[in-house]
Amino acid sequence: NKEEIKAYVENIKTIVTSRNPNEDEFHQAIFEVLHSLEPVLQKNPHYIKHQVLERLVEPERMITFRVPWLDNQNQIQVNRGFRVQFSSTLGPYKGGLRFHPTVNSSIIKFLGFEQIFKNSLTGLMIGGGKGGSDFDPKGKSDEEIMRFCQSFMTELYKHIGSTIDVPAGDIGVGQREIGYLYGQYKRITGSFEAGVLTGKGLSYGGSLVRKEATGYGLVYFVQEMLKQKSLDFNRKKVIVSGSGNVSIYAMEKAEQLGGTIIACSDSNGYIFNEKGLDIQKIKQIKEIENKRIKHYLEYDSNTTYVDSCAGIWSIPCDIALPCATQNEIDEMSAKQLVFNGVLAVGEGANMPCTLEAIKTLQSNDVSFAPAKAANAGGVSVSALEMAQNRSLPWSFETVDTKLQQIMKDIYFESLETAKQYGEPNNLILGANIAGFIKVADTMIAQGV
Ligand code: GLU
Repeated sequence: NKEEIKAYVENIKTIVTSRNPNEDEFHQAIFEVLHSLEPVLQKNPHYIKHQVLERLVEPERMITFRVPWLDNQNQIQVNRGFRVQFSSTLGPYKGGLRFHPTVNSSIIKFLGFEQIFKNSLTGLMIGGGKGGSDFDPKGKSDEEIMRFCQSFMTELYKHIGSTIDVPAGDIGVGQREIGYLYGQYKRITGSFEAGVLTGKGLSYGGSLVRKEATGYGLVYFVQEMLKQKSLDFNRKKVIVSGSGNVSIYAMEKAEQLGGTIIACSDSNGYIFNEKGLDIQKIKQIKEIENKRIKHYLEYDSNTTYVDSCAGIWSIPCDIALPCATQNEIDEMSAKQLVFNGVLAVGEGANMPCTLEAIKTLQSNDVSFAPAKAANAGGVSVSALEMAQNRSLPWSFETVDTKLQQIMKDIYFESLETAKQYGEPNNLILGANIAGFIKVADTMIAQGV
């Protein structure tokens, strides 16, 4: 019964916290999923009999390694590298690498755990993994980045392969880093194994639309969600945080659909213009000039720059797309968004809303697109890249059409599942349950 299931879930939470002490982000990601699975366990007690949850919360493998490298002064620097191979049930481990000073085992495990369900939702054959390092790419020269990537791969190559584990990018890891990582893998193994990494350059097996995929996919997902309420992006005021590919291409697509981007940010601060920002200029600053967002003021003196990130969510808007990092919207920011009449929030980053923020948004009837469904476009196109690496490359239109269909399918699968469990407006519940059932049934089919 209900009480027994609650006690069972509480017991798993205790196991997770005692086995992974002080790993708050990992606990947060697990608790969110566990709570939405309670009604599934009530309906299907065989998941309890097969101890699916006990197995799922423990990664298949967690690799921690030393990454020594020489800086420009010829001094030896040492960083820590990680790769969590969380679940291989649905395919080779798949997930990005994050290079950021905040990276630790809690962050990597939370991201790897989320990735299992996200990848399951895509309907493609990919398991869940994640990796990275506490290396800070900010202010490093191109040569330092290269030497770091080479050292990172000198250990990582032992653990990956096109049918084993296929890393890609995440925060701090883009096409340049993937290039250096791929070069080193090829040098060490002596084989051109294109499918071992995704997010590659086009000339050596990369896919068109990979760069745009997470941002475009997020907007395709939110578009479907708005449609349900007979709404769309046209003439809506949109705020997008973050300054990587996710945010840039979410802005580009939202603008193409008629939205006005009124504010966006980087890790130093945000720019705001009620009449709308020029996305092509932002792209130029970020992608070509490699400058901070405040340089936008050089193009447009009517825009305001604020030297801190937190306040961006206090600006009134219709649609909020957090695309920077975890826990960037807390309860306070969520309350401000609600107070200002926000219609929809779509998570482009991984876990950008705290549990309290989500509660606030949902209890105030804000349409909420959870990360593991809404930002699955990136990893989906990664899986399409792996498929092209086994055959021939596809055109931009072909990949974009497949991406749109995948995002639509994820939306409707999450919605239908949410309806089936009696909470049609709760896409978190729908996404968690739909993602879980596929993995859980397959785990049972494959035995212990
Ligand atoms: N880092 C992205 C994510 O969080 C993409 C992973 C991939 O392409 O493997 O899903």
